[in-house]
Amino acid sequence: MSEILTLLAPLAGWAMPLAETPDPVFAEKMLGDGLAIDPTVGELRAPCDGEVIGLHACSHAVTLRAANGAEILLHVGLETVRCGGAGFEAQTAIGRKVRAGDLLLRFDLELLARQAASLVSPIVVINGRGFAVEPLATGREVAFGEPVLALRPTGTTEPIAAAAAASETLRRRVKVALAHGLHARPAALVAKEAATFAAEIAVEIAGRSANARSPVAVMALGVRFGDEIEFVASGDDAAAALEALVARVAQRDAEAPVAVVETLAPPAPGPTSPLSALGGVPAAPGLAIGAAVRLVEPEVAVIEAAGAPDAEHAALAAALDAVRAALTGRLVGETDQRREIVEAHLAFLGDPELRQTARGAIATGQSAGAAWAFAIGGYVDQLRGVGDARMMERAADLNDLKRQVLLRLSGEAAPTLRLPDNAIILADDILPSQLMELDASRVAGLAISRGGPTSHVAILAAAMNIPAVVALGPRVLSIEDGALVILDGDNGRLQVAPKSAEIAAAQTRLAERRTRRARAMAAAAEPGRTADGVRIEVFANLGAVEEAASAVENGAEGCGLLRTEFLFMDRDAPPGEDEQLAAYQAIATALDGRPLIIRTLDIGADKPASYLELPRDENPALGVRGVRVSLAWPQLLRAQLRAILRVRPAPQIMLPMVSSLAELRAVRAVLAELAADLGVPSPKLGVMVETPAAAVTADLLAAEADFLSIGTNDLAQYALAMDRTNPQLAAQVDAMHPAVLRLVRDAAAGGAKHGRPVSVCGGLASDLAAAPILIGLGVTELSASPAVVPELKAAIRSLTMAQCREIAERALNQTSAAEVRALQLAAAPAAPKMGAAS
Ligand code: PEP
Ligand code: MG
Repeated sequence: MSEILTLLAPLAGWAMPLAETPDPVFAEKMLGDGLAIDPTVGELRAPCDGEVIGLHACSHAVTLRAANGAEILLHVGLETVRCGGAGFEAQTAIGRKVRAGDLLLRFDLELLARQAASLVSPIVVINGRGFAVEPLATGREVAFGEPVLALRPTGTTEPIAAAAAASETLRRRVKVALAHGLHARPAALVAKEAATFAAEIAVEIAGRSANARSPVAVMALGVRFGDEIEFVASGDDAAAALEALVARVAQRDAEAPVAVVETLAPPAPGPTSPLSALGGVPAAPGLAIGAAVRLVEPEVAVIEAAGAPDAEHAALAAALDAVRAALTGRLVGETDQRREIVEAHLAFLGDPELRQTARGAIATGQSAGAAWAFAIGGYVDQLRGVGDARMMERAADLNDLKRQVLLRLSGEAAPTLRLPDNAIILADDILPSQLMELDASRVAGLAISRGGPTSHVAILAAAMNIPAVVALGPRVLSIEDGALVILDGDNGRLQVAPKSAEIAAAQTRLAERRTRRARAMAAAAEPGRTADGVRIEVFANLGAVEEAASAVENGAEGCGLLRTEFLFMDRDAPPGEDEQLAAYQAIATALDGRPLIIRTLDIGADKPASYLELPRDENPALGVRGVRVSLAWPQLLRAQLRAILRVRPAPQIMLPMVSSLAELRAVRAVLAELAADLGVPSPKLGVMVETPAAAVTADLLAAEADFLSIGTNDLAQYALAMDRTNPQLAAQVDAMHPAVLRLVRDAAAGGAKHGRPVSVCGGLASDLAAAPILIGLGVTELSASPAVVPELKAAIRSLTMAQCREIAERALNQTSAAEVRALQLAAAPAAPKMGAAS
């Protein structure tokens, strides 16, 4: 057959010569000739008519045989076998006849971008000896169906394995220790090794045999980790060949099985592998393209030489006053979050013990600077010693204060950093004061080596609308100043020196985001409803009175969770009934008649209150918190309930951290008594489903509760046994885990049994990708961060109940959160994940 076969682009994206593939197995054409495409759309289509002769168990690679005998390997991404199938959905099967353009695979580009070594996808003719392979399109963007390769038959055929030489045949059995078995790369390396010997070598497993010099044949054996294979060799150097091959497959490779976890940073690059992407923890949502600017702050020098103690006391007092004045000046006109941080710094500054320790150090002959550094250092060590993530982050605030005072003492001005437009700040850690000193109009994103998602910087970045990724690791500081980077705050990823196709894709995403947001805003006032008319109420979570107005502007139909802790924290005594009434009433008034659900105090664990003298729990998250605190301090509960009962229009009440019906009954009794005292009807009382106990007994709770509201933040931490404040685990505490979703299903079923509304008010309600799943599981209300409300409503509008039920059913049967996130729903929008702190 002499006809030229033209292969059509099986992927849409940037086409490049195979030699540019960042993997020698493909770049050196060990598997055959072809080209590579860096895809921008998550679909793989057939490049010609043919038959599917290979579909990897992990669905990341398909082999087609064309009518002219050419066998074409379509390998999506590099080292994607490690994803274990997550992010891939096969749309074909082995043995199926396909036509050019038929869909073979769907894959989740964003997920793979985080997990794969690269998205560059080789398209290789693996029995290429019979064909001259000519790329038709490289170095440019290609669309599906454009001609990309021409295959001209050469008349040569694959060499038939020479008959075994007359010499003795040697055999060696070996257990394969390569983490992913003999998939494409190791098969190619085995073949390369085999080719260095003269001996004829075969690989055998379960009665099947392959020529060891044929990577494709070896790959087709489907050898997995732990399988026993046999190398069979004959020829002069057979013994040496067996030795070498056995050693190659018996050794654990660098590809130790990798959990499909979004935060795993890629392994340290070798000398020849340039840094291309880093994985971290999302801290503030959004996408940014810009120039890297390293923020390397020199340590502020401490003047060690001390003058007379009186002079040093005076110098310290003057420096503290100057910092206080500067901080107080900053309070004016600041947003809530920024003001809170400045207030925290002011409180630290006024701390009498801190000052006393510093004064004591001056009395022993230290300079003002050395004394201040000593005093702060002691606190920082103590906070770090607690081993609690939030305490560590407060230690960062103290270090910030140390720096501010030392700068005053040294008389130096804070160094000003000149920023280009769209600067993406790279820093080991960034102190809140440093962030506030930067010209915010030029900062497009923050890429932080350390830090946690609940740090003040993360909160500030979110409030300033600056995408941020933390815990990127120290390599972030090796990125050159001025390098172009893409920061993805939704997915916790920093891409370095992106290719033009990647920049174009990011720009498209940015533009789409803006358009989507604008469209959603325009329709924000419409009630939440699915495409087929089912009413889904969309509420907002509030934590302060100032947020209520913006929630209403964003189309919130009410408040599904008012976190009342804002009134109780960072003070020496709890607020009285009247103070609470004023705060709750202001919110009810701002909501202008929309429903308001007030949650009773959820203090304890990561939300401390010094005046309560809570017991020092070994495991605070499992200790006295939520409704347990209210029941243990009845006066506190009574004052709060009385304040709520006096609000007009009457709000509803819900209880946090419920684990048994007895808690609901106890509060209900107090509420009934107080309502009778005040001569008002007892309001609706609901429970939060935040413990696995509440979820699995939801039917029992719903018999008496007026409604259920699922707190997925806590439900995920308790179901997965992962502390939600632990920065190391932060990205894994993902409520999309099927275990959590099954608990949501149980809670929804329990509520439905008694006709009770079931809402979700945890962070999952703010995650657009979760909306169809939650609705499909039976949730009828979502209470999200105010900023998400317009897009959440728009997402719901695009869904039908049938679609929701279908995806929910599939989600329940996945094995990990990553797999659930990889599920695609045609109608679902590209879903930005909102910050972990909802
Ligand atoms: C939750 O746990 O999901 C929740 C809404 O409560 P919080 O985040 O305030 O603990
Ligand atoms: Mg909670």
